[in-house]
Amino acid sequence: MPRSAIVLGAGMVGVSVALHLRRRGYDVVLVDRREPGEGASFGNGGLIQREAVFPHPFPREAREIGRVAWNRSIDVRYHPLAMPGFMAPLLRYWWHSEPARYAAAVEGHAALIRTCLDEHLALARGTPAMALLRPIGWMRLYSSAPMLEAALAQAEQARREYDVNYVALDGAALAEAEPHLLAARAGAIHWTDPLSVSDPHALVLAYAGFFQQEGGAFRIGDAATLRRAGSGWAVRTADGEVEAGEVVIALGAAAGEVTRPLGYAPPLFGKRGYHMHYGLRGNAVLHRPVLDTESGFLLAPMRAGIRLTTGAEFARPGAPATPVQLERAEPVARGLLPLGERVEGVPWMGVRPCTPDMLPVIGRLPGQAGAWCAFGHAHQGLTLGPTTGRMLAEMMTGEQPFVSPEAYRAERFLRRGMAA
Ligand SMILES: Cc1cc2nc3c(=O)[nH]c(=O)nc-3n(C[C@H](O)[C@H](O)[C@H](O)COP(=O)(O)OP(=O)(O)OC[C@H]3O[C@@H](n4cnc5c(N)ncnc54)[C@H](O)[C@@H]3O)c2cc1C
Repeated sequence: MPRSAIVLGAGMVGVSVALHLRRRGYDVVLVDRREPGEGASFGNGGLIQREAVFPHPFPREAREIGRVAWNRSIDVRYHPLAMPGFMAPLLRYWWHSEPARYAAAVEGHAALIRTCLDEHLALARGTPAMALLRPIGWMRLYSSAPMLEAALAQAEQARREYDVNYVALDGAALAEAEPHLLAARAGAIHWTDPLSVSDPHALVLAYAGFFQQEGGAFRIGDAATLRRAGSGWAVRTADGEVEAGEVVIALGAAAGEVTRPLGYAPPLFGKRGYHMHYGLRGNAVLHRPVLDTESGFLLAPMRAGIRLTTGAEFARPGAPATPVQLERAEPVARGLLPLGERVEGVPWMGVRPCTPDMLPVIGRLPGQAGAWCAFGHAHQGLTLGPTTGRMLAEMMTGEQPFVSPEAYRAERFLRRGMAA
Protein backbone atom coordinates (compact mmCIF):
# COMPACT_ATOMS: atom_id res chain seq x y z
CA MET A 1 0.00 0.00 0.00
CA PRO A 2 1.32 3.51 -0.78
CA ARG A 3 2.21 5.65 2.19
CA SER A 4 -0.12 8.56 2.84
CA ALA A 5 0.20 12.06 4.29
CA ILE A 6 -1.93 15.06 5.15
CA VAL A 7 -0.07 18.33 4.51
CA LEU A 8 -1.53 21.17 6.59
CA GLY A 9 -1.04 24.59 5.00
CA ALA A 10 -1.02 25.38 1.28
CA GLY A 11 1.51 28.21 1.16
CA MET A 12 4.72 27.93 -0.86
CA VAL A 13 6.16 25.59 1.77
CA GLY A 14 3.18 23.21 2.14
CA VAL A 15 2.52 23.07 -1.61
CA SER A 16 6.18 22.23 -2.27
CA VAL A 17 6.19 19.49 0.40
CA ALA A 18 2.96 18.03 -1.00
CA LEU A 19 4.31 18.02 -4.57
CA HIS A 20 7.59 16.37 -3.58
CA LEU A 21 5.79 13.71 -1.53
CA ARG A 22 3.39 13.02 -4.39
CA ARG A 23 6.33 12.59 -6.78
CA ARG A 24 7.70 9.97 -4.38
CA GLY A 25 4.50 7.96 -4.55
CA TYR A 26 2.68 9.18 -1.43
CA ASP A 27 -1.09 9.57 -1.39
CA VAL A 28 -1.31 13.22 -0.31
CA VAL A 29 -4.16 15.45 0.82
CA LEU A 30 -3.21 19.12 1.07
CA VAL A 31 -5.46 21.02 3.50
CA ASP A 32 -5.89 24.75 4.02
CA ARG A 33 -8.72 26.88 5.34
CA ARG A 34 -8.38 29.00 2.19
CA GLU A 35 -7.42 28.31 -1.42
CA PRO A 36 -3.67 27.65 -2.01
CA GLY A 37 -1.26 30.56 -1.71
CA GLU A 38 -3.49 33.02 0.11
CA GLY A 39 -1.30 33.43 3.23
CA ALA A 40 2.11 35.12 3.36
CA SER A 41 3.02 33.43 0.08
CA PHE A 42 0.47 35.62 -1.73
CA GLY A 43 1.82 39.09 -1.28
CA ASN A 44 5.55 39.02 -0.72
CA GLY A 45 8.32 40.79 -2.64
CA GLY A 46 8.56 37.94 -5.12
CA LEU A 47 12.32 37.49 -4.80
CA ILE A 48 13.93 34.06 -5.06
CA GLN A 49 16.82 35.24 -2.99
CA ARG A 50 19.99 33.40 -3.93
CA GLU A 51 21.92 36.30 -2.37
CA ALA A 52 20.26 35.98 1.08
CA VAL A 53 22.98 33.92 2.73
CA PHE A 54 23.00 36.29 5.73
CA PRO A 55 19.62 36.05 7.52
CA HIS A 56 18.19 39.19 9.18
CA PRO A 57 19.84 39.55 12.62
CA PHE A 58 18.39 41.43 15.59
CA PRO A 59 20.24 44.77 15.80
CA ARG A 60 23.14 44.65 18.28
CA GLU A 61 24.21 48.34 18.23
CA ALA A 62 22.63 50.65 20.81
CA ARG A 63 22.12 53.37 18.16
CA GLU A 64 20.20 51.02 15.89
CA ILE A 65 18.10 49.65 18.78
CA GLY A 66 17.39 53.25 19.85
CA ARG A 67 16.29 54.20 16.34
CA VAL A 68 13.79 51.33 16.24
CA ALA A 69 12.64 51.95 19.84
CA TRP A 70 11.32 55.42 18.86
CA ASN A 71 8.79 53.55 16.71
CA ARG A 72 8.89 56.22 14.01
CA SER A 73 10.92 54.45 11.35
CA ILE A 74 9.58 53.06 8.09
CA ASP A 75 11.34 49.70 8.18
CA VAL A 76 10.34 48.47 11.67
CA ARG A 77 7.28 49.26 13.77
CA TYR A 78 5.64 47.72 16.81
CA HIS A 79 2.37 47.84 18.73
CA PRO A 80 3.56 48.84 22.23
CA LEU A 81 0.88 46.76 23.98
CA ALA A 82 1.99 43.66 22.03
CA MET A 83 5.60 43.89 23.15
CA PRO A 84 5.32 41.94 26.44
CA GLY A 85 4.30 38.92 24.33
CA PHE A 86 7.37 39.37 22.11
CA MET A 87 9.92 39.78 24.90
CA ALA A 88 10.92 36.13 25.28
CA PRO A 89 11.41 35.32 21.56
CA LEU A 90 13.01 38.69 20.82
CA LEU A 91 15.48 38.27 23.68
CA ARG A 92 16.46 34.91 22.20
CA TYR A 93 16.62 36.48 18.73
CA TRP A 94 19.00 39.13 20.14
CA TRP A 95 21.06 36.38 21.82
CA HIS A 96 21.35 34.35 18.63
CA SER A 97 22.42 37.50 16.74
CA GLU A 98 25.67 37.79 18.76
CA PRO A 99 28.48 37.48 16.15
CA ALA A 100 29.70 33.94 16.97
CA ARG A 101 26.17 32.51 17.19
CA TYR A 102 25.10 34.50 14.16
CA ALA A 103 27.90 32.80 12.21
CA ALA A 104 26.20 29.46 12.91
CA ALA A 105 22.89 30.87 11.66
CA VAL A 106 24.61 32.03 8.48
CA GLU A 107 26.04 28.56 7.86
CA GLY A 108 22.61 26.95 8.30
CA HIS A 109 20.83 29.56 6.22
CA ALA A 110 23.39 29.60 3.42
CA ALA A 111 23.24 25.80 3.08
CA LEU A 112 19.54 26.13 2.18
CA ILE A 113 19.85 29.33 0.13
CA ARG A 114 22.56 27.85 -2.13
CA THR A 115 19.97 25.40 -3.51
CA CYS A 116 17.01 27.75 -4.04
CA LEU A 117 17.39 28.54 -7.74
CA ASP A 118 17.97 24.92 -8.76
CA GLU A 119 15.00 23.72 -6.70
CA HIS A 120 12.58 26.27 -8.14
CA LEU A 121 13.84 25.61 -11.66
CA ALA A 122 13.50 21.85 -11.15
CA LEU A 123 9.77 22.41 -10.56
CA ALA A 124 9.17 25.12 -13.13
CA ARG A 125 11.37 24.20 -16.09
CA GLY A 126 9.43 23.05 -19.15
CA THR A 127 6.16 24.43 -17.75
CA PRO A 128 4.30 27.74 -18.15
CA ALA A 129 5.51 28.64 -14.61
CA MET A 130 8.91 29.51 -16.12
CA ALA A 131 7.37 32.70 -17.50
CA LEU A 132 6.84 33.89 -13.92
CA LEU A 133 10.54 33.55 -13.01
CA ARG A 134 12.42 36.53 -14.41
CA PRO A 135 16.25 36.28 -14.35
CA ILE A 136 16.77 39.97 -13.64
CA GLY A 137 18.07 40.00 -10.05
CA TRP A 138 17.31 42.97 -7.83
CA MET A 139 19.04 46.10 -6.59
CA ARG A 140 19.69 47.49 -3.15
CA LEU A 141 20.10 51.27 -3.17
CA TYR A 142 22.30 53.18 -0.72
CA SER A 143 22.03 56.87 0.15
CA SER A 144 25.54 57.39 1.51
CA ALA A 145 28.98 56.32 0.33
CA PRO A 146 29.99 54.85 3.74
CA MET A 147 26.82 52.69 3.80
CA LEU A 148 27.53 51.49 0.27
CA GLU A 149 31.14 50.66 1.14
CA ALA A 150 30.15 48.64 4.20
CA ALA A 151 27.55 46.76 2.16
CA LEU A 152 30.07 46.06 -0.59
CA ALA A 153 32.46 44.53 1.95
CA GLN A 154 29.71 42.12 3.01
CA ALA A 155 28.76 41.45 -0.62
CA GLU A 156 32.38 40.55 -1.30
CA GLN A 157 32.29 38.09 1.62
CA ALA A 158 29.12 36.56 0.17
CA ARG A 159 30.85 36.19 -3.20
CA ARG A 160 34.02 34.71 -1.66
CA GLU A 161 32.38 32.28 0.74
CA TYR A 162 28.98 31.48 -0.80
CA ASP A 163 29.35 32.01 -4.58
CA VAL A 164 26.92 34.92 -4.64
CA ASN A 165 27.26 37.25 -7.65
CA TYR A 166 26.72 40.98 -7.75
CA VAL A 167 27.63 44.13 -9.65
CA ALA A 168 28.51 47.35 -7.82
CA LEU A 169 27.01 50.53 -9.28
CA ASP A 170 27.95 54.10 -8.46
CA GLY A 171 25.31 56.84 -8.62
CA ALA A 172 25.80 57.44 -12.36
CA ALA A 173 25.67 53.73 -13.26
CA LEU A 174 22.50 53.36 -11.17
CA ALA A 175 20.87 56.32 -12.96
CA GLU A 176 21.76 54.70 -16.28
CA ALA A 177 20.41 51.29 -15.25
CA GLU A 178 17.15 52.71 -13.89
CA PRO A 179 16.68 56.00 -15.80
CA HIS A 180 13.26 56.75 -14.29
CA LEU A 181 14.48 57.00 -10.70
CA LEU A 182 13.64 60.54 -9.56
CA ALA A 183 16.16 60.80 -6.73
CA ALA A 184 19.91 60.31 -6.77
CA ARG A 185 21.51 57.64 -4.58
CA ALA A 186 25.19 57.11 -3.75
CA GLY A 187 25.03 53.78 -5.54
CA ALA A 188 23.60 50.29 -5.49
CA ILE A 189 24.40 46.62 -5.34
CA HIS A 190 22.77 44.66 -8.15
CA TRP A 191 22.38 41.05 -6.99
CA THR A 192 22.43 39.30 -10.32
CA ASP A 193 21.57 35.69 -9.36
CA PRO A 194 18.04 36.05 -7.87
CA LEU A 195 14.88 35.42 -9.84
CA SER A 196 12.12 37.99 -9.58
CA VAL A 197 8.62 36.47 -9.62
CA SER A 198 6.10 38.58 -11.50
CA ASP A 199 3.18 37.10 -9.47
CA PRO A 200 4.06 35.03 -6.36
CA HIS A 201 0.47 33.86 -5.92
CA ALA A 202 0.44 32.52 -9.50
CA LEU A 203 3.66 30.61 -8.77
CA VAL A 204 2.12 28.86 -5.75
CA LEU A 205 -0.99 28.10 -7.82
CA ALA A 206 1.19 26.68 -10.61
CA TYR A 207 2.99 24.30 -8.22
CA ALA A 208 -0.35 23.40 -6.58
CA GLY A 209 -1.69 22.72 -10.09
CA PHE A 210 1.17 20.26 -10.80
CA PHE A 211 0.37 18.53 -7.49
CA GLN A 212 -3.29 18.10 -8.41
CA GLN A 213 -2.59 17.11 -12.04
CA GLU A 214 -0.27 14.41 -10.70
CA GLY A 215 -2.98 12.93 -8.48
CA GLY A 216 -2.73 14.95 -5.27
CA ALA A 217 -5.92 16.19 -3.57
CA PHE A 218 -6.63 19.61 -2.12
CA ARG A 219 -9.31 20.13 0.57
CA ILE A 220 -10.58 23.14 2.49
CA GLY A 221 -10.36 22.39 6.20
CA ASP A 222 -9.24 23.65 9.61
CA ALA A 223 -5.89 22.32 10.81
CA ALA A 224 -7.02 22.85 14.41
CA THR A 225 -9.21 19.73 14.02
CA LEU A 226 -6.11 17.52 13.67
CA ARG A 227 -6.34 14.41 15.85
CA ARG A 228 -4.71 11.05 16.28
CA ALA A 229 -6.54 8.27 14.40
CA GLY A 230 -5.12 4.88 15.28
CA SER A 231 -1.47 4.94 14.31
CA GLY A 232 -2.10 7.80 11.88
CA TRP A 233 -3.75 11.21 11.76
CA ALA A 234 -7.12 12.69 10.78
CA VAL A 235 -8.38 16.18 10.04
CA ARG A 236 -11.87 17.52 9.27
CA THR A 237 -12.40 19.10 5.87
CA ALA A 238 -15.37 20.55 3.99
CA ASP A 239 -15.63 17.16 2.23
CA GLY A 240 -15.54 15.09 5.39
CA GLU A 241 -12.76 13.75 7.57
CA VAL A 242 -9.53 12.65 5.85
CA GLU A 243 -7.08 10.18 7.34
CA ALA A 244 -3.46 9.42 6.55
CA GLY A 245 -0.47 7.68 8.05
CA GLU A 246 1.57 10.87 8.45
CA VAL A 247 0.99 14.60 8.81
CA VAL A 248 3.12 17.61 7.87
CA ILE A 249 2.55 20.92 9.65
CA ALA A 250 3.35 23.69 7.15
CA LEU A 251 1.14 26.40 8.57
CA GLY A 252 3.57 29.32 8.42
CA ALA A 253 3.09 31.77 11.29
CA ALA A 254 0.13 29.73 12.62
CA ALA A 255 2.12 26.49 13.05
CA GLY A 256 2.41 26.85 16.84
CA GLU A 257 -1.39 26.77 17.19
CA VAL A 258 -1.34 23.16 16.01
CA THR A 259 1.97 22.00 17.52
CA ARG A 260 1.32 23.36 21.04
CA PRO A 261 -1.60 20.99 21.80
CA LEU A 262 0.73 18.20 20.63
CA GLY A 263 3.32 19.21 23.25
CA TYR A 264 5.69 21.25 21.10
CA ALA A 265 5.82 25.03 21.64
CA PRO A 266 8.42 26.54 19.31
CA PRO A 267 9.30 30.21 20.02
CA LEU A 268 7.76 31.24 16.70
CA PHE A 269 6.92 34.93 16.24
CA GLY A 270 5.44 36.89 13.36
CA LYS A 271 6.81 39.90 11.50
CA ARG A 272 3.90 41.41 9.60
CA GLY A 273 4.32 43.15 6.26
CA TYR A 274 2.04 45.04 3.86
CA HIS A 275 1.85 45.64 0.16
CA MET A 276 0.11 47.97 -2.27
CA HIS A 277 0.33 48.20 -6.07
CA TYR A 278 0.72 51.40 -8.04
CA GLY A 279 0.70 52.38 -11.68
CA LEU A 280 3.61 54.32 -13.19
CA ARG A 281 3.07 57.75 -14.71
CA GLY A 282 3.85 58.53 -18.34
CA ASN A 283 6.26 56.16 -20.06
CA ALA A 284 8.22 55.37 -16.87
CA VAL A 285 9.47 51.82 -16.32
CA LEU A 286 11.24 50.03 -13.50
CA HIS A 287 13.44 47.27 -14.90
CA ARG A 288 13.90 45.26 -11.70
CA PRO A 289 12.99 45.32 -7.99
CA VAL A 290 14.78 48.01 -5.96
CA LEU A 291 15.06 48.15 -2.20
CA ASP A 292 15.72 51.55 -0.67
CA THR A 293 18.00 50.60 2.23
CA GLU A 294 17.58 53.80 4.21
CA SER A 295 13.78 53.54 4.34
CA GLY A 296 13.56 49.74 4.12
CA PHE A 297 10.83 49.18 1.53
CA LEU A 298 10.92 47.30 -1.76
CA LEU A 299 9.46 48.43 -5.09
CA ALA A 300 9.00 45.49 -7.45
CA PRO A 301 7.54 45.57 -10.95
CA MET A 302 4.82 42.91 -11.01
CA ARG A 303 1.87 41.88 -13.15
CA ALA A 304 -0.48 43.89 -10.95
CA GLY A 305 1.66 47.06 -11.01
CA ILE A 306 4.61 48.33 -8.98
CA ARG A 307 4.34 46.42 -5.70
CA LEU A 308 5.53 48.32 -2.64
CA THR A 309 6.24 45.91 0.23
CA THR A 310 7.03 47.09 3.74
CA GLY A 311 9.44 45.95 6.46
CA ALA A 312 8.58 44.31 9.78
CA GLU A 313 5.66 45.11 12.09
CA PHE A 314 5.31 43.45 15.51
CA ALA A 315 1.69 43.01 16.60
CA ARG A 316 -0.42 40.50 18.50
CA PRO A 317 -1.50 37.54 16.34
CA GLY A 318 -4.88 38.40 14.83
CA ALA A 319 -4.68 42.13 15.65
CA PRO A 320 -6.34 44.33 12.97
CA ALA A 321 -4.11 45.63 10.18
CA THR A 322 -2.33 48.93 10.86
CA PRO A 323 -0.58 49.84 7.59
CA VAL A 324 1.27 52.80 9.10
CA GLN A 325 4.56 51.78 7.47
CA LEU A 326 2.91 51.83 4.07
CA GLU A 327 1.63 55.38 4.73
CA ARG A 328 5.15 56.39 5.77
CA ALA A 329 6.83 54.65 2.83
CA GLU A 330 4.52 55.92 0.09
CA PRO A 331 5.71 59.57 0.02
CA VAL A 332 9.35 58.42 0.00
CA ALA A 333 8.55 55.97 -2.80
CA ARG A 334 6.84 58.73 -4.78
CA GLY A 335 10.05 60.75 -4.45
CA LEU A 336 11.97 57.81 -5.89
CA LEU A 337 9.70 56.75 -8.76
CA PRO A 338 6.84 58.51 -10.62
CA LEU A 339 4.16 56.31 -9.05
CA GLY A 340 0.57 56.74 -10.20
CA GLU A 341 -2.64 55.83 -8.41
CA ARG A 342 -3.01 53.04 -5.86
CA VAL A 343 -4.40 49.95 -7.58
CA GLU A 344 -6.26 48.42 -4.59
CA GLY A 345 -8.54 50.09 -2.06
CA VAL A 346 -7.06 48.28 0.93
CA PRO A 347 -3.43 47.22 1.56
CA TRP A 348 -2.63 43.50 1.71
CA MET A 349 -1.10 42.15 4.93
CA GLY A 350 0.84 38.93 5.57
CA VAL A 351 2.92 37.48 8.39
CA ARG A 352 6.52 36.23 8.09
CA PRO A 353 6.94 33.15 10.34
CA CYS A 354 10.16 33.78 12.30
CA THR A 355 12.32 31.85 14.77
CA PRO A 356 14.90 33.34 17.20
CA ASP A 357 17.84 31.47 15.62
CA MET A 358 16.84 32.65 12.12
CA LEU A 359 16.51 29.07 10.81
CA PRO A 360 13.36 27.21 9.80
CA VAL A 361 12.05 24.13 11.57
CA ILE A 362 12.25 21.14 9.20
CA GLY A 363 11.98 17.54 10.44
CA ARG A 364 10.15 15.32 12.90
CA LEU A 365 7.69 16.79 15.41
CA PRO A 366 9.19 15.70 18.74
CA GLY A 367 7.26 13.03 20.62
CA GLN A 368 4.66 12.45 17.87
CA ALA A 369 5.22 9.47 15.59
CA GLY A 370 4.38 10.22 11.97
CA ALA A 371 4.22 14.00 12.43
CA TRP A 372 6.60 16.43 10.70
CA CYS A 373 7.37 20.16 10.73
CA ALA A 374 8.04 22.56 7.84
CA PHE A 375 7.70 26.17 9.01
CA GLY A 376 9.58 29.23 10.26
CA HIS A 377 11.05 30.43 6.95
CA ALA A 378 10.83 34.09 7.99
CA HIS A 379 11.89 36.51 5.20
CA GLN A 380 12.70 33.74 2.70
CA GLY A 381 9.79 31.29 2.55
CA LEU A 382 9.02 31.94 -1.11
CA THR A 383 12.69 31.31 -1.83
CA LEU A 384 13.00 28.16 0.28
CA GLY A 385 9.68 26.35 -0.26
CA PRO A 386 10.94 23.92 -2.94
CA THR A 387 14.21 23.27 -1.04
CA THR A 388 12.26 22.44 2.11
CA GLY A 389 9.76 20.35 0.16
CA ARG A 390 12.47 18.17 -1.31
CA MET A 391 14.43 17.88 1.94
CA LEU A 392 11.45 16.91 4.05
CA ALA A 393 10.11 14.45 1.46
CA GLU A 394 13.54 12.80 1.38
CA MET A 395 13.57 12.58 5.18
CA MET A 396 10.09 11.05 5.22
CA THR A 397 10.94 8.40 2.63
CA GLY A 398 14.22 7.54 4.35
CA GLU A 399 16.39 8.84 1.51
CA GLN A 400 19.56 10.77 2.29
CA PRO A 401 18.40 14.43 2.44
CA PHE A 402 20.24 16.52 -0.14
CA VAL A 403 20.91 19.16 2.53
CA SER A 404 22.07 17.99 5.96
CA PRO A 405 18.97 18.47 8.19
CA GLU A 406 20.76 18.78 11.56
CA ALA A 407 20.59 22.59 11.92
CA TYR A 408 16.82 22.69 11.34
CA ARG A 409 15.68 19.94 13.74
CA ALA A 410 12.66 20.82 15.87
CA GLU A 411 14.39 19.39 18.97
CA ARG A 412 16.68 22.43 19.18
CA PHE A 413 13.77 24.33 20.76
CA LEU A 414 13.17 21.67 23.42
CA ARG A 415 16.32 22.45 25.39
CA ARG A 416 16.05 24.69 28.40
CA GLY A 417 17.75 28.08 28.84
CA MET A 418 19.06 30.63 26.39
CA ALA A 419 20.83 28.07 24.23
CA ALA A 420 17.48 26.66 23.15
C1 LIG B 1 5.80 41.90 2.91
C2 LIG B 1 6.52 40.56 2.74
C3 LIG B 1 7.53 40.45 1.78
C4 LIG B 1 8.20 39.22 1.61
N1 LIG B 1 9.11 39.09 0.59
C5 LIG B 1 9.69 37.86 0.36
C6 LIG B 1 10.54 37.67 -0.78
O1 LIG B 1 10.74 38.57 -1.59
N2 LIG B 1 11.11 36.44 -0.94
C7 LIG B 1 10.87 35.41 -0.06
O2 LIG B 1 11.44 34.33 -0.23
N3 LIG B 1 10.03 35.55 0.98
C8 LIG B 1 9.44 36.76 1.22
N4 LIG B 1 8.59 36.93 2.28
C9 LIG B 1 8.39 35.80 3.22
C10 LIG B 1 7.48 34.75 2.62
O3 LIG B 1 6.32 35.33 2.08
C11 LIG B 1 7.11 33.74 3.71
O4 LIG B 1 8.27 33.27 4.37
C12 LIG B 1 6.41 32.53 3.08
O5 LIG B 1 5.29 32.95 2.33
C13 LIG B 1 5.99 31.53 4.14
O6 LIG B 1 5.39 30.46 3.45
P1 LIG B 1 4.56 29.37 4.25
O7 LIG B 1 4.05 28.41 3.25
O8 LIG B 1 5.39 28.88 5.38
O9 LIG B 1 3.39 30.21 4.93
P2 LIG B 1 2.03 30.79 4.29
O10 LIG B 1 2.20 31.19 2.89
O11 LIG B 1 1.55 31.84 5.25
O12 LIG B 1 1.08 29.53 4.32
C14 LIG B 1 0.51 29.02 5.50
C15 LIG B 1 -0.87 28.53 5.16
O13 LIG B 1 -1.46 27.96 6.34
C16 LIG B 1 -2.84 28.24 6.29
N5 LIG B 1 -3.40 28.09 7.64
C17 LIG B 1 -3.07 28.76 8.76
N6 LIG B 1 -3.80 28.32 9.80
C18 LIG B 1 -4.62 27.34 9.32
C19 LIG B 1 -5.59 26.49 9.92
N7 LIG B 1 -5.91 26.54 11.22
N8 LIG B 1 -6.21 25.58 9.13
C20 LIG B 1 -5.92 25.48 7.81
N9 LIG B 1 -5.01 26.26 7.21
C21 LIG B 1 -4.37 27.19 7.95
C22 LIG B 1 -2.94 29.63 5.74
O14 LIG B 1 -4.22 29.88 5.18
C23 LIG B 1 -1.81 29.64 4.71
O15 LIG B 1 -2.28 29.34 3.41
C24 LIG B 1 7.89 38.13 2.47
C25 LIG B 1 6.87 38.25 3.41
C26 LIG B 1 6.18 39.44 3.55
C27 LIG B 1 5.07 39.54 4.56
